[in-house]
Amino acid sequence: NLSRRLRESLDKLRGRGRITEADLKQVMREIRMSLLEADVNFEVAKAFVARVQEKAIGQKVLESLTPAEQVYTIVYNELTDLLGGKAVQPELRHEGNLWFLVGLQGSGKTTTAGKLARYYKSKGRRPLLVAADTQRPAAREQLRILGERVGVPVLEVADNEPPEVTAQRLKDHLKTDYRDLVIVDTAGRLQIDEPLMEALARQKAVLNPTETLLVVDAMTGQEALGVSKTFDERIGVTGLVLTKLDGDARGGAALSARFVTGKPIYFAGTSEKLEGLEPFYPDRLAQRILGMGDIQTLLEKAQEAELEAPEKAPHEFDLNDLLNQMRQVRKMGSLGDLLKMIPGVSRMLPPEFSVDERAFKRVEAIILSMTPAERRNPKILNASRRRRIARGSGTSVQEINRLIKTFEETKAMMKTLQKTQRRRGWFRR
Ligand code: GDP
Ligand code: MG
Repeated sequence: NLSRRLRESLDKLRGRGRITEADLKQVMREIRMSLLEADVNFEVAKAFVARVQEKAIGQKVLESLTPAEQVYTIVYNELTDLLGGKAVQPELRHEGNLWFLVGLQGSGKTTTAGKLARYYKSKGRRPLLVAADTQRPAAREQLRILGERVGVPVLEVADNEPPEVTAQRLKDHLKTDYRDLVIVDTAGRLQIDEPLMEALARQKAVLNPTETLLVVDAMTGQEALGVSKTFDERIGVTGLVLTKLDGDARGGAALSARFVTGKPIYFAGTSEKLEGLEPFYPDRLAQRILGMGDIQTLLEKAQEAELEAPEKAPHEFDLNDLLNQMRQVRKMGSLGDLLKMIPGVSRMLPPEFSVDERAFKRVEAIILSMTPAERRNPKILNASRRRRIARGSGTSVQEINRLIKTFEETKAMMKTLQKTQRRRGWFRR
């Protein structure tokens, strides 16, 4: 299992002060092995490891991430990159879209055609399905049934129908029934075979699609590289659809197909059902390959830092800011968890009060009883000033002491958070 192997390799780096080149080499060798085990093609794995190694060795040792976290982050970022970076969708013109689906038999073309029709119909498009398998009537019937279920018409070719005839029938159909997205389901073979490639190439040349989508079964592993390469060379592919990601596929096929064609993976099939189609998210597959848990925690850490980090630098943060933040939070309505967004505030409130309006009001009263100079610089709060504030706010000197102490602690905490925030540059490349 790729996830487990990778984690084991990375765990070896845990608890060490810095990454040595030898450490890294060892880990990278194991990452390459893990990728191979996950059916990633050898060349792909080699190229991937080389990229990661280059990045990791050139990297300064960061103060706030452990070396293991650093390597993990690089591996994650590179994997995401290799899978395409961001989620992308095929470009849709206002009209005249024709998508040509190709792939091996059983890869999920017909199912994907139905899913795409449903998906785009729900987005307000008017799809038309074309069952263009000229060999198997059963394959055409399968699409006809799917079309009925999603409420999209299906144009069926006849046995051995020449592509010119199909193109003409399509043109005639569109004259009376306006459609802005034509999805063509084609024949497949269990293996790459020359006659099929030739037939598909001819069909494509005549139909002149705006997109040619290669449907790849995520479970195929090693085979995906050769299949993708051949389809791309012979037919010319503009994008990929990865099916059966709901299975225990390890992602190797996606890496290979993407790597060898350089084409974007637009969609992921996530169930047999017609709803089982999603945009493909490279970062999610990378997370899956790495094992969700760890990377998720790491990313959450970074997200928390983003939430909690103050706008101002820590030395500028004063009691006025605290007051403003508290008021903002209160404006948002429900308290509770929102309070946690202000560092230290929940600790600042006396324990006998649960987090409620009254406790808030006391802290507010204390700060409001301070002079602007005191709010800017609480260090000047000597004993007599504190007594004055206690009287003015209707609280006690102890409460004020507690507030100031917590405020100082909060500032210290913010300094740490700022460091964390600095390391965020790491996740955003
Ligand atoms: P085609 O020969 O390329 O047209 O493949 P089909 O569309 O007939 O699909 C082959 C099998 O894979 C069928 O049993 C489908 O239900 C199944 N299938 C297709 N896509 C998915 C998917 O994303 N997830 C799952 N679990 N099964 C799928
Ligand atoms: Mg089919």
